[in-house]
Amino acid sequence: MKSFRPTWAEINLDAIHQNIHQFRKWLPEKMQMMAVVKADGYGHGALPVAREALAAGATWLGVALMEEALELRSAGITAPILVFGYLPSEAIPVAQQQGIAVTITDAASFQEACSSINPSLPALKFHLKVDTGMGRLGITTPAELEQIIAWYREHTQRKDGAVMLWEGLFTHLATADEEDDSYLRRQINQFETFRKQIMGEGIDLPYVHLANSAGTIRHQQLPTMNLVRIGISMYGLYPSPWMKHLLPFPLTEAFSLHSRLSFIKQVAAGAGISYGRTYLTQEEEWVGTIPIGYADGWSRALSNRSEVLVGGERSKVIGRICMDQCMIRLTKPYQRNELVTLIGRQGKERISIDDIAQLLDTINYEIPCQIGKRVPRRYVKKGCQDEWEHDRINEQEC
Ligand SMILES: *Cc1c(COP(=O)(O)O)cnc(C)c1O
Repeated sequence: MKSFRPTWAEINLDAIHQNIHQFRKWLPEKMQMMAVVKADGYGHGALPVAREALAAGATWLGVALMEEALELRSAGITAPILVFGYLPSEAIPVAQQQGIAVTITDAASFQEACSSINPSLPALKFHLKVDTGMGRLGITTPAELEQIIAWYREHTQRKDGAVMLWEGLFTHLATADEEDDSYLRRQINQFETFRKQIMGEGIDLPYVHLANSAGTIRHQQLPTMNLVRIGISMYGLYPSPWMKHLLPFPLTEAFSLHSRLSFIKQVAAGAGISYGRTYLTQEEEWVGTIPIGYADGWSRALSNRSEVLVGGERSKVIGRICMDQCMIRLTKPYQRNELVTLIGRQGKERISIDDIAQLLDTINYEIPCQIGKRVPRRYVKKGCQDEWEHDRINEQEC
């Protein structure tokens, strides 16, 4: 759909390409990369991000939901996909049909999957999840693993071919972004005991993976894995600020947020701006209105606290942020349609996702995720911009 409101998020696919490419050059050659594109690619757009990541050297895609995997498949993406979350049994034949790998989180989910398999479809690929200390999903005891191994041998290997293919073993790290690595080391040790138990049974595991972005950044500590799951850092963000110094290359933020002035006025001193008159002008001031509000994910908690960039200068958000609009204090009179950057760079000034996350007392992950569907994503590739619709990116040779 054509967009009339001049408010958009710009996604720099070149930045995503560069981030993945740098990881590719830095990681050992045998280490494969899974690009994590759940939650619509952390708000960047799952499809264009997935395509770019695959072009830049990722070989796997990771998502949270079956719906997200199917969206990629129906767009023609044939790369291996792993769904991290629990799946009800109806999803199993769909996974077989579409060649989507599923996560087995416990003995019961293994049994459920076993009994939902359609033997006339291709074998179900699965990765077993072990909970080594995240406390979210996964088996926790050797006895549970033993049970799964027994069932695997009994029920999945048939004379006419396997109905289940044990493709991987993985865990999720809870503290890989913290400087103190004692808990991380405990998780790694725990994981190793499970891995060895499986190896000891003569079961071959094509993929062994533990690392999110933070784990990938300290991959030297994780010797047995051969696949990393990179989310946040592919988008150019650090799992936590101190990790910057562990990477031998800089990451480039892919997401920026923009709008244009829709209204400009000069107001006398003592005028109230927006609901509740929480901002009163101190003197004669120039006030601009921009068409973005909390319904777009530009949180109301940023009222009277955040800044935006106009004409390469910082400009304060004044008064309460409304549902669809908010007001800013201009340093001088501007014309309607002047570019306003809420996240990103203008000249020497820059407002990063981390700055906004800090103001909102949250993590950088949440910021692009919460910018809603009402804000169209515009894609930039090799310096040129597409016309709003991301599907055109591939056709268009810039
Ligand atoms: C989201 C997620 C990731 C990616 O984590 P980042 O910190 O964004 O790199 C990796 N693995 C699993 C299981 C996840 O849910």
